[in-house]
Amino acid sequence: MTWQSPISPGYSWYEATIPERPVFPVMPGSRKADVAIIGGGYTGLQAACNLARSGTDVTLIDACRFGDGASGRNGGQFGTGQRVWADETEEVLGREWAQRLFDMAENAKRYVLGFAEEHAIDIEFMPGQLSVGHKASLERDYRNHVEAMTGRYGYPHLSFMDREETVSRLGSSHYHFGIRDTGTGHIHPMKLVVGLARQAALAGANLYEGTKALKIEKKGGAVVIETTSGTITADRALIACNGYIGNLEPVTASHVMPIRSFIGATTVLHGHPEILPGGESVDDSRFVVRYFRKSKDGRLLFGGREAYTADNPRDISVHIRRQICEIYPDLADVEITHAWGGSVGITMPRQPFCREVMPGVTTIGGYSGHGVMLANYCGKLYAELALGKSTELDLLKQLKIPAFPGGTRFRSALLFLALSWYALRDRF
Ligand SMILES: Cc1cc2nc3c(=O)[nH]c(=O)nc-3n(C[C@H](O)[C@H](O)[C@H](O)COP(=O)(O)OP(=O)(O)OC[C@H]3O[C@@H](n4cnc5c(N)ncnc54)[C@H](O)[C@@H]3O)c2cc1C
Repeated sequence: MTWQSPISPGYSWYEATIPERPVFPVMPGSRKADVAIIGGGYTGLQAACNLARSGTDVTLIDACRFGDGASGRNGGQFGTGQRVWADETEEVLGREWAQRLFDMAENAKRYVLGFAEEHAIDIEFMPGQLSVGHKASLERDYRNHVEAMTGRYGYPHLSFMDREETVSRLGSSHYHFGIRDTGTGHIHPMKLVVGLARQAALAGANLYEGTKALKIEKKGGAVVIETTSGTITADRALIACNGYIGNLEPVTASHVMPIRSFIGATTVLHGHPEILPGGESVDDSRFVVRYFRKSKDGRLLFGGREAYTADNPRDISVHIRRQICEIYPDLADVEITHAWGGSVGITMPRQPFCREVMPGVTTIGGYSGHGVMLANYCGKLYAELALGKSTELDLLKQLKIPAFPGGTRFRSALLFLALSWYALRDRF
């Protein structure tokens, strides 16, 4: 067994397969900083790295270890665009906004790949993504999406797959059709966290693990963050806690809700060359999305089954196995060596949430299952905004993201009911 995250359930295969990782100390007492950052996932670490590089005195704290939240435990899939397809966004926000959000996501993809290459971080990038339909009735939407992307969005990497091609690329007859995207891919997420933390430290960021923020307030023009190991007094602050925000800050908590998602890793698949022979990652059309891929060493990493409460299923792998078997019945007896979960931060419209919650204090999160590239990029954009170098982050600030209804008392219960209803519809 490897490390057990205190805030996310189960033992992750990613943890078990990273080479030695640097350990960062608990904050040794009260300190001052130009910028304080709360949360050491992709968002916070990228912001710290980019700020420190420009000579800013930056202090980042995480309540646990870097990557203990979603960043070290996710499906590793980049996808393309935002969580919601651009052609759907267009219907609500109009063509220009949809294009700008799409372009931001493409910038994010390029940024993450460039960052890893520049710093020789082996993120185990593997190309290709298949988005597959579990209901025949969705075929028109999938075809329209390919047309919109290749046409008016100028993204040339998508092609529609009929049933025959879908079956042969997946090695499963479970899905009706799909879209093949050759312009994206998937990575080992924890290797990116570790490489990124190393780069942030090298750049001179003050990085602390095991240090929890308890309260944020403005005092005499400064931001004062009370933590479990003293206070940080800073000119400005970034809240990068995403789906782990808890009660720290009410605006973030009312706009970014956590849902649990779970992943299982099998042993190396021997004798199944038909399963994903092209090495692509897969996501499906269910409301409770199933997402899977093969690792570089040939395991199936399979994600699905969500939970809408903080409770965790007693045996994550039982649920994962059931879902694997629906798609790959021949894997009924395969050993699942690791099974784990984490909190995905979602927003009502499934667009990222970025807002100034008090003067000088910005919160960013709610990437809604699309944060592998977006969280990295938004962390970098926060740094650029703070340094006066770019205003691209303002695009997200202008999005009208409503709070989840129900107030502090009923929000979780209402979300549970709504999501359970949609999840039920996946079965029919
Ligand atoms: C199981 C799973 C599968 C996913 N699959 C994909 C995928 O395939 N593709 C994709 O694009 N996205 C995926 N995601 C989402 C993606 O991982 C996230 O969007 C992204 O990692 C968010 O990064 P972050 O830095 O904003 O937040 P996180 O990585 O969640 O980091 C938040 C950090 O804040 C810290 N924190 C919280 N409160 C405090 C406090 N009071 N004081 C100090 N520190 C605090 C936590 O300890 C944590 O480390 C998945 C997520 C999960 C859980």
